[in-house]
Amino acid sequence: MGFLRRLFSRKPPDDGPPAPGRWVRPPDPPPPDPVIPGPLAEKLAPFWRTGWLAEAEDGDGETTASKFSGLAHIPKGESWPRCGSCDKPMQLFVQLNAKDLPEGARELHPEGILQFFYCTDPESMCDVDCEGWRPFSKASLARVVTEGSGELISASPVKDAFPAKSITGWKTVEELPNWEEAQYTLGIELDDSDLKALEGINSLNPGEKLGGWPYWIQGVEYPDCPKCGEPMGLVFQVDSDQNLPFLFGDLGVGHITRCKRHPEVLGFGWACT
Ligand SMILES: [Zn+2]
Ligand SMILES: [Zn+2]
Repeated sequence: MGFLRRLFSRKPPDDGPPAPGRWVRPPDPPPPDPVIPGPLAEKLAPFWRTGWLAEAEDGDGETTASKFSGLAHIPKGESWPRCGSCDKPMQLFVQLNAKDLPEGARELHPEGILQFFYCTDPESMCDVDCEGWRPFSKASLARVVTEGSGELISASPVKDAFPAKSITGWKTVEELPNWEEAQYTLGIELDDSDLKALEGINSLNPGEKLGGWPYWIQGVEYPDCPKCGEPMGLVFQVDSDQNLPFLFGDLGVGHITRCKRHPEVLGFGWACT
């Protein structure tokens, strides 16, 4: 089901402008908003959550800016993070400056610059050898650095660095958890008719987003905080081939998570079908 939903949620490739004189089928009207039956709507009401889809355009900004790839903010005296396995500089996937986040998202990342690096070195297979899908792998790093003075960097030390994209804004979305998370993690009692109704309500967004509910490809996979053992919460979702030219396995989706009690503990994991 998750796989099918994923297939059909992707945009078809753009065929370019139609040839002159060719009949063009008018675009399909947007689907009607799904109507959630009353009793189910009541059960789900407390679980609506706001998410923010990242809007980005080509090009890098300041080293402290929010972005995909490009030049990271490296605190003075430190060097660009290296892979714990091959020791090569890791690719910057995402950087989020707390100052650039929408008002309602502040509690997800209140201050500093959040960074997520992942080893994509073409000569090594670190993401396979070090189980890059697993949080706290040696081939990835999720962290927050302070926005103090930084090292002067004029070029990325990463081999085949991805083209930079600047995050220019956020599109607000309202989301519900998927049925599995609703039923088994949140303990919402759902009967067969509720589950059937939920199938028709696609309230979860793939793509790159801040907050909201995770778009799980397999089961619910919040990692446990290594300090307190409590499940960590979603901060940011990273998708395959959206703002980064990279596939997590077969169109997988990854999640940057954080412990609520230990805000310095961040993790990243991904899953694919
Ligand atoms: Zn590596
Ligand atoms: Zn913790």
